[in-house]
Order: sequence, then C-alpha cells, then structure tokens
Amino acid sequence: MKYLETAIEMLEDTEISSELKAIYDFYNSIQPELDGFRDEFGLTCPDECGECCAHFIPDITKSEALLLGARVLFGERKSFLQDRLQETSTEAIVCPFYDARSKHHCMIYSARPLVCRLFYSCATTDKSGKLKFCKCHFNAASKKLSDDKLASSQKTIRSVGEYGAMLDSLDGNSPETELLPFAVLKAISRIGYALNLLFSEVGSVTAENPEA
Ligand code: SF4
Ligand code: SF4
Repeated sequence: MKYLETAIEMLEDTEISSELKAIYDFYNSIQPELDGFRDEFGLTCPDECGECCAHFIPDITKSEALLLGARVLFGERKSFLQDRLQETSTEAIVCPFYDARSKHHCMIYSARPLVCRLFYSCATTDKSGKLKFCKCHFNAASKKLSDDKLASSQKTIRSVGEYGAMLDSLDGNSPETELLPFAVLKAISRIGYALNLLFSEVGSVTAENPEA
C-alpha cells in the first residue's frame, strides 16, 4: 500500500502515523473473516453492479476518515478526488468515490470504510439477537438466503454490530461519525496541518489548524 507507506513515513512519530497504522491493522485483521464469510455462503455481486455505492454515502469515524485522507493526499488522482469531495453537497446521494469504470466501482477501494467492507460480507441480527443475512435489494440471489445456514456454520460469525464496536474502540468507544466527504476533507486538513509543521515547504494543503 504505497500511499500508506508514504503517509506513515512522512508523518513518522506523530499521532497521525499511529492512528493510520491502527485503522489499517484493524481492516487487515478482519478481512480474512469477511472473505471467508462470502466464500462459505457463496455470496457474490454481479461484476457490473455497484448500485450500493451509487445510492449511498457512508457516515464514518475519525479513524476511517484519516485513512481515506491519507489515500487521497498520497495516492493516485489526488486533485480529482479532492475536487469530488469538495463538490459533494449535503443533498448528494452518490458516494464521491464511486466510479462505474473503476475496479469494484470504488476509486479508493483499499481504504474503503468499514460499512463498505461489511455489506454482504457478514451477518446482522434481528431484535432477539438471532443472526441473519444482510439482504441486498439489488441482488435477487440474496433474498433466497436462508438464515438457518448461519446457525449451522462451524465458524465464528460476527455481526455488523460486533465489527462496529471493534471499529469504535479505535476512537474512544462511542465516537462521533460524519458523512464521508466532510469527514475526509477535515482529515485532509489535519494531515496538511501536520505536514506544514513538519515540512515548511509543503504548502499545497491548508495551514489552518483543523483542531482549533
Ligand atoms: S452489494 Fe448489492 S448493490 Fe452492492 S455491488 Fe453487491 S449486489 Fe450490487
Ligand atoms: S467508499 Fe467506495 S465502496 Fe464505499 S460507498 Fe464509496 S464508492 Fe462505495
């Protein structure tokens, strides 16, 4: 993950660097479980589909926004992605990172937030706490899934809520969330401020203290 290595190297010994490592390690630690869930129950999305991203903008935590901010600042298509974020209004319904032509329809796939990783890749629970499949309105096959299969699995199956609690623990257990474009722009300002302190010649990003 070149963008992450660059960000961590440039921000070495700062809080941002350890926060980036923590969220990245968290995503890496759960990904095999999510992949295993999809494999076990044969969950697949049609290649051409990306309807979830075309009708959805996630709310994300500060840690998630930080990784996305690093991806935007240190990865490919920086200016384009920044423009996309800035152009997204509060009424928008399409994720600013959605691109029908990109692999997985997402321009920042390796840094995507938790909810995007979980959708169709883990279970949810009903009111009584029983595990259920997350059904996708755009995928007819998902409507035929029997929740009984979950109960007979030999593997540990975590729910959306359990993964969410793991994510929240990175930001103090009950973190505030914010709509992705606004959260990422704040994270970009925070990273920019830190870089300006570390390297006075880095002037392409704001020098205002976003925490002030
Ligand atoms: S989760 Fe549903 S909407 Fe999203 S890509 Fe898969 S099938 Fe399509
Ligand atoms: S971040 Fe990527 S995966 Fe998540 S909604 Fe946006 S385009 Fe889709």
